[in-house]
Amino acid sequence: MSTYTASATLDFPDIWQEFQNITDLLCAHNMEHEPRKDAAFFSSPLGTALLVPENGQLHIHVTANQPASFNRLKHDLTILIDFITQPKTIEFDWAGDAIGATYPPDLRILDVLETAHPSPGIRRIRFRGENLAQYAVPDQIHCRLMFPKTHGKHSQAQWPKLDDNGKIIWPEGGKLASRIYTIRKIDILAGTLDIDFVIHKSPGPGISWAMAAQPGDSVGMLGPAGNGPKPASEYLLIGDETGLPGIARILEGLPTNARGNALIEVSDKSEIQILNAPQGFQIHWLCRNGDAPGTSTVLIEKLRILDLSAHSDTLFCWVGTEYTGFNDIRSYLRTEIGIPKSRLVAFAHWRRSMSEEDVIAAGSEKI
Ligand SMILES: Cc1cc2nc3c(=O)[nH]c(=O)nc-3n(C[C@H](O)[C@H](O)[C@H](O)COP(=O)(O)OP(=O)(O)OC[C@H]3O[C@@H](n4cnc5c(N)ncnc54)[C@H](O)[C@@H]3O)c2cc1C
Repeated sequence: MSTYTASATLDFPDIWQEFQNITDLLCAHNMEHEPRKDAAFFSSPLGTALLVPENGQLHIHVTANQPASFNRLKHDLTILIDFITQPKTIEFDWAGDAIGATYPPDLRILDVLETAHPSPGIRRIRFRGENLAQYAVPDQIHCRLMFPKTHGKHSQAQWPKLDDNGKIIWPEGGKLASRIYTIRKIDILAGTLDIDFVIHKSPGPGISWAMAAQPGDSVGMLGPAGNGPKPASEYLLIGDETGLPGIARILEGLPTNARGNALIEVSDKSEIQILNAPQGFQIHWLCRNGDAPGTSTVLIEKLRILDLSAHSDTLFCWVGTEYTGFNDIRSYLRTEIGIPKSRLVAFAHWRRSMSEEDVIAAGSEKI
């Protein structure tokens, strides 16, 4: 088996300030971290990466056994580190083996099988795809969907490739919009997976595509990513409608004797779903009752009156909600309850009045 290797050195004046943020972000993207003296080593299904910070520079060395994984690994490191440094862009110039442009190894083309409405505000789409085993991982429950410009069936040639510098080569017709979603349910034997799209009023490529989707339409999927639940004596799961698919999937995967609380913000009672939760779980449905999505404080208010003191040493917390609520909840759990980073997985799923492109341009400081 061949091993492909490449290196890059980045000028990075505040590398020591950002090194922990880079490490955390890579861990949330399916990379396992092994601390080394003055360095960090990562392994993932794609290959390995060694990051060495030194004198205002970051040295990166990657290895992979498959050509497509090799380009994907360089791409992941490029975009994740670039996200941390935004609005400043860092130039990557990879030296080493060059194998030409390849399709991402995780690219799957999914076709819409059927659509449903588990509640008035959710459009559930069941997709059919091949070779989905890599996506059926309980602690990596998120994926990125790429939306073609036209509806209908699309072949592999219509999706992007990655070049030797890890850069995306878009297909003829130009860049495709993409958004992050949670895999609500996956059945690798049947070759199906479900995504619950939260219906919202501001136009965006994700919701526009989902609302118009018909059986037979294709999307591209990349991933998985995420950081899911870790074994704990007590769980606390918190989310708005965009976090509900993750909470529902986590609840279904926990041992039957698991205990904890789930706090779920929805617009009103019509959005309440029947969840398959362990018996020792309390599900708290919190209605915004007229407040716009992303403006309500029902989650943090409920959180403040939960008695977490008995379990704060062993509690595992998962949070997926709008940015403002996410910030309040994360800071309450970290500073007032004392939950360490290792027992908290928290994502800002969206940000009011900002598209995903706006959020990426704003960079990690504002996330
Ligand atoms: C880890 C992760 C998992 C996620 N899982 C899911 C999931 O399973 N289901 C799901 O529906 N979303 C999920 N999201 C959120 C989803 O990616 C965003 O809502 C995304 O912005 C939707 O893209 P869009 O093209 O519809 O809107 P964008 O083009 O991104 O935004 C356009 C406008 O719509 C507003 N907007 C975006 N989302 C919402 C919303 N939910 N409610 C009200 N206004 C909104 C924005 O503030 C902006 O003003 C997840 C996000 C992350 C990071």
